[in-house]
Amino acid sequence: MKNATPDFATIGDMATFAVRIRLIKDPDRLAHAPCSSVGSWGDLQIWVSGINLCESSIITGQGMRRLEHVRWYLAPFFRWIVKNWSALLHEYRLPGNLPNLDSRRRWARGFYLSALQLHGDDEQFQVWQEWALRHSIRAASEGGLFPDIFFQRTGDDIEISWGDRVLLGAESVDFLVEPGGAHASVQSVASVLDDVLSWFLKQPELAQFPWYAQLRELVAKRNKEDAETKLAWFLDSSDRPGRLYSLLHKGDSAVSKWTQDHLHDQVLAPMVPAVAMFGALSPEISEEAAATLIGILMSSETDQEEPRELLRLTENIPAWGAASPYDDGYMLAREILEQVEPDPEETFTDVDNIVQSLNVKTIIEHLGAEGPRGVAIAGPNYAPTIVVNKDSGFNVDRGTRFTIAHELCHILFDRNKAKSIVHPSTPWAHPAVEQRANAFAAMFLMPPWRTNIDRNAVDLAREVTQLADDLKVSKGALVHHLANIGEISGEQRDALLAR
Ligand SMILES: [Zn+2]
Repeated sequence: MKNATPDFATIGDMATFAVRIRLIKDPDRLAHAPCSSVGSWGDLQIWVSGINLCESSIITGQGMRRLEHVRWYLAPFFRWIVKNWSALLHEYRLPGNLPNLDSRRRWARGFYLSALQLHGDDEQFQVWQEWALRHSIRAASEGGLFPDIFFQRTGDDIEISWGDRVLLGAESVDFLVEPGGAHASVQSVASVLDDVLSWFLKQPELAQFPWYAQLRELVAKRNKEDAETKLAWFLDSSDRPGRLYSLLHKGDSAVSKWTQDHLHDQVLAPMVPAVAMFGALSPEISEEAAATLIGILMSSETDQEEPRELLRLTENIPAWGAASPYDDGYMLAREILEQVEPDPEETFTDVDNIVQSLNVKTIIEHLGAEGPRGVAIAGPNYAPTIVVNKDSGFNVDRGTRFTIAHELCHILFDRNKAKSIVHPSTPWAHPAVEQRANAFAAMFLMPPWRTNIDRNAVDLAREVTQLADDLKVSKGALVHHLANIGEISGEQRDALLAR
């Protein structure tokens, strides 16, 4: 029994997030092992949502073999976790410009692959490459064949996304999992990674190797990284406090106290609302707008109970869990409108009136061209509030109505009742959440019972203009929506937009 393979140690909950691991005897350790990894030969499984992401098939001389784990040196995996700890668990923004949002659901890995396809050979891709070094597990493989898994902070969760991308030079190995993604709380991911690290460091046979002491030093260095570093990653995508960090701390002394209170937390979660808000603001936001937003947030604080009717309609339905955030937004808008519509006979949806009747306050404010299009504030400690940025290109003419409906979606569905949200609508907010709120707004303002149009009309353009006036929406928004719900064809849409 001396050479029997040991059982896996299971750390975490395989139904959400877990790592299974064991050390085994290196078949030719002395001959080939790199000195930075020698002795750490072992098996690794990463489980998310009950799926083993490390299952692969490999074509060998004897045919196809199925492997249930990655078998490789494990020291590099732990070095990667420890070195990147603060970024891995706190960096919130994806680098570079995101491609236009279509109706598909996207994970961080999907954005990375789009960037790779678009800019793979030019300089623009460099920021993505650096980002991937901090967030893609393949950066930890040091020559091994690791599955394609990305970790990305989103709010108080970590999004884990994966796929079956073939590794160059290793075409005979196929990871079996279909592309997908899931969320787990930051706390749970951090504690699994930290526990598996402790497990590894406790293995008695490892202490003799030269890399072991170095790994211990890295752990000590990680343990010294304080809340400032973690917040810098969350707010400014850097290991040093940047502009958003200083604007936030300058404007809100409560945040400085919060930072001090959590100075030595291994992971920062949940974030207080002001921090969460700044995480999704544009790095270019003006100092005045940042101060105005903090002021609005503070003046929205209340110890009064939430309006009952609003609370009744509120439900936490995570947008990332929907197969199509777009369809989800359409469905939710119809459900809500059927309950709150004051007058179905009216030609347009009176969103101002509806929001008012739900006791949600609307504030129209100058927040600069780089400010968010709108902000949704709600929860146990806040009077429900929608902020509309007068200076945003979205909010000219009839666009304001869209923004109000969009923010209403966040207030109703992007939070649980026990938790406050402060959500700025910007390109840095979670893509699925934004997609869904956009679809919600479109359906809320243009429900099927208000969008009857004769697609065979002789002068379709005139019909559309008339309908847009009736609905109090822009012509462009109406044309897109009519095509999306099948009232007009794709060619009709293109022809109308070309005019
Ligand atoms: Zn939004």
